[in-house]
Amino acid sequence: MWQQIQTAIETVYPPRCLGCGDLVTSDFGLCGKCWRDTPFIDGTVCDSCGVPLPGARDGHRIECDDCMTHPRPWSDGRAALLYTGRARRMVLALKHGDRPELARPGGLWMARSAAPLLRPNMLIAPVPLHWSRLLRRRYNQSALLAQSVGRQTGLPVCPDLLVRERATPMLEGMSTTQRAETLANAISVHPRRRHRLTARKLLLIDDVMTSGATLSAATWACLDAGADQVFVLVLARVTREA
Ligand SMILES: [Zn+2]
Ligand SMILES: [Zn+2]
Repeated sequence: MWQQIQTAIETVYPPRCLGCGDLVTSDFGLCGKCWRDTPFIDGTVCDSCGVPLPGARDGHRIECDDCMTHPRPWSDGRAALLYTGRARRMVLALKHGDRPELARPGGLWMARSAAPLLRPNMLIAPVPLHWSRLLRRRYNQSALLAQSVGRQTGLPVCPDLLVRERATPMLEGMSTTQRAETLANAISVHPRRRHRLTARKLLLIDDVMTSGATLSAATWACLDAGADQVFVLVLARVTREA
């Protein structure tokens, strides 16, 4: 069914490069030039937050300085892109620019980065938006990315597993402690979805990871509600250098 809809869409709207608008043939959504200009994360990365690290892997789990100083509540994490340049523009277009179609290639890239995190029967869930923000934006970009990652991996998705209890102010400009305080208890597991995560491994999806405060709050909510283990996957990772 989905395949038929996709084919119908592609007949009417032939795939164009998300970067420059040229016609493209690949499902990955970018022409060769724009692909090379997009900051995909490859090679050695921090196993907790997905930032690129220098050197080659030696088979052991490795973490960046940030994750060693402030251990994450989740098990492992990955990001598809660095939040800079073309990737930053794409994330902003998906979030504020009413370009929901970007979630499809975004989910493809995320599924590729998520390979080391995937476990059998893992449940995928997006970080929730408060309904007031959902009304303004029409869609939750993280939920669209979660659906796309679900289609790529074949894993089940629970779009409303988590809910925002109250609207939280924008976190930009806040310190790590302020972010954590603002988010404490802001995210919880939907009482009617709780049974789906009991003793299960979970893959939390968000569009961007900055300090990781939102993903930490969501992880704690899942672990408190009985999840076995939580992994996180984002489209783009903000780094200090970027
Ligand atoms: Zn292009
Ligand atoms: Zn890290």
